Amino acid sequence: MSEILTPAVVLRTRALRESDLIVVVLTPGRGKIDCIARGARRSRRRFPGGLPIGARGEIGLDRGRGSLAVLVSFTPSFDHSGLGRDLEAFAYVGYLCELSDQLVGGSAADPTTFGRLCEAIEDAMTWAGQDHTPTQAHKPALLRRYELGLLDSLGLLPALDHCSVCGAPADATDDGVAFSLVRGGVACPTHASGARRLPAPVLDLASTLLHADPQARDGAYAQADREIRRGLRDLCRELIQPHLRAPLRSLAFFAQIAARPEPNTHDGSE
Ligand SMILES: [Zn+2]
Repeated sequence: MSEILTPAVVLRTRALRESDLIVVVLTPGRGKIDCIARGARRSRRRFPGGLPIGARGEIGLDRGRGSLAVLVSFTPSFDHSGLGRDLEAFAYVGYLCELSDQLVGGSAADPTTFGRLCEAIEDAMTWAGQDHTPTQAHKPALLRRYELGLLDSLGLLPALDHCSVCGAPADATDDGVAFSLVRGGVACPTHASGARRLPAPVLDLASTLLHADPQARDGAYAQADREIRRGLRDLCRELIQPHLRAPLRSLAFFAQIAARPEPNTHDGSE
């Protein structure tokens, strides 16, 4: 019997010695945990489905003697087998997990982030094995929604609709909305000196993805111009960049699958 049983998502794994695996998981009640899965590289007896990135289930942990907890069991709560067959869904899930791994810092309880990650992975998994789905246009929306949601639940999201200094309505003109990242986001006319201008539809789309119900947010994204989607992608990258410890390797993987010759490929980047 394990000392600790908790829901978890596998964020990252790394080989340790010949047969062991270091597994980094995200949990709702204990934040991010590094643990060791003894023998997981050599035998699948204890972890029959393996421990793929993005796998979700219940883990059993023992405290262990060193600084690492010992992962003694993993019971999947979701069928992840389709992931290995769908390169694109695999890339999405890889990105969601790598981003979470880099941005989530410690062991504080954060059920909101955990819930958002589970939801995003589940969405990506529903595409696995489907060549072309009605949700094709919504795929990048999933990434933007998760990026914004993750920044939000970690307290890293700048103000997007009211002045970050005083809370007054934003300074919006035909040139766009005043925005200064160093000052914390959108600015009112009083606090707008030195701020740059962001297109209002980009900020509106960000708010919709964050706050609207699933149908409304997917619809808004599908209807947005390509330029607005790209503006939002670039804004999200800009917001994430200062919090990264290393370049995101999964972004390079996106670029690779986008370069494949097959039709209907989608790099998820717009
Ligand atoms: Zn202000």
